[in-house]
Amino acid sequence: MAEPQGKGELLPEDVCTDDCLTSYTHIYSPDLLKDQVAFITGGGSGIGLRIAEIFMRHGCDTVIASRNLDKLKEAATKLSAASGRRCIPVCVDVRQPESIAAAVDETLKELGRIDIVINNAAGNFLCPATSLSFNAFKTVLEIDTMGTFNTSKVVYEKWFKDHGGNIVNISATLGYKGQALQVHAGSAKAANDAMTKHLAVEWGPSGVRVNAVAPGPISGTEGFRRLGGPRGEAAGAFQSIPLQRAGNKTEMAHCTLFLASRVSSYVTGAILVADGGAWLTSGNDVSMMLGIASSKSAKL
Ligand code: NAP
Repeated sequence: MAEPQGKGELLPEDVCTDDCLTSYTHIYSPDLLKDQVAFITGGGSGIGLRIAEIFMRHGCDTVIASRNLDKLKEAATKLSAASGRRCIPVCVDVRQPESIAAAVDETLKELGRIDIVINNAAGNFLCPATSLSFNAFKTVLEIDTMGTFNTSKVVYEKWFKDHGGNIVNISATLGYKGQALQVHAGSAKAANDAMTKHLAVEWGPSGVRVNAVAPGPISGTEGFRRLGGPRGEAAGAFQSIPLQRAGNKTEMAHCTLFLASRVSSYVTGAILVADGGAWLTSGNDVSMMLGIASSKSAKL
């Protein structure tokens, strides 16, 4: 059953670890993605893993792609056991187009098609601009932005150009107000939001929709832990968010499912902000954020 929480709506089930749900209540038809195939970067952990699970619970087979093959194999076993669908783990570094091309060839050989691409792989950490090395900035841009372009272009050329398809980029709201200590990720995601629109324009005539989901703080993720989420939650920091809580991974998977499925068949070039209204009201105090960053690095 969905979980009652706070005032208002029932929240969908979630678990804080990188495990599958112990129960799941469908909102959409369980056949919504029947026999489709989704290629999900960073699908072995966090939000990406939950997207894979929810898609599989709607009849989809998945390929989960990232660098750590052991982690992916473990995740794929859990995902298939929970959903009864196929999940293929593939080793990919989204900075290397040839590794994506090999994974896409393997997907087409094994599963025969690709309907959906989820660009979810990213690197993130808190760091003031003055302490950020040139290489660290470049690496985040390479993973988040180049990685999104590389994956989209490889799948477009090998399959979407002739068959159409759906791309959903997992973005962030960091750049909207210039979030402190996040110049790297905020700049990368802002570029991705522009890319979402550019590719929607250029590839729409081929039957390709390109959209994005921009999550706010999402519990049970590495991003949330690294960015001080649990501490903030305990200190009541989320009371300033209009919906007064962090989001959960299943909520992000539902937003992604909406954009990746025929439910949103006339939507392209859109960025769905799914943050409980957080960016409208959240603080952006550099000294306070520096305090969080230094107390975290002191613990490392
Ligand atoms: P996560 O669990 O750390 O997921 C990131 C994934 O990206 C990992 O599975 C990682 O796997 C993969 N990855 C990193 N570098 C890669 C590379 N070079 N090539 C291929 N894969 C790579 O983090 P998450 O918090 O769930 O974040 C998922 C997405 O949501 C990200 O795009 C993030 O920016 C966005 N987001 C998250 C939050 C939040 O609160 N968590 C908020 C806003 C936006 P490997 O280590 O195996 O490569």
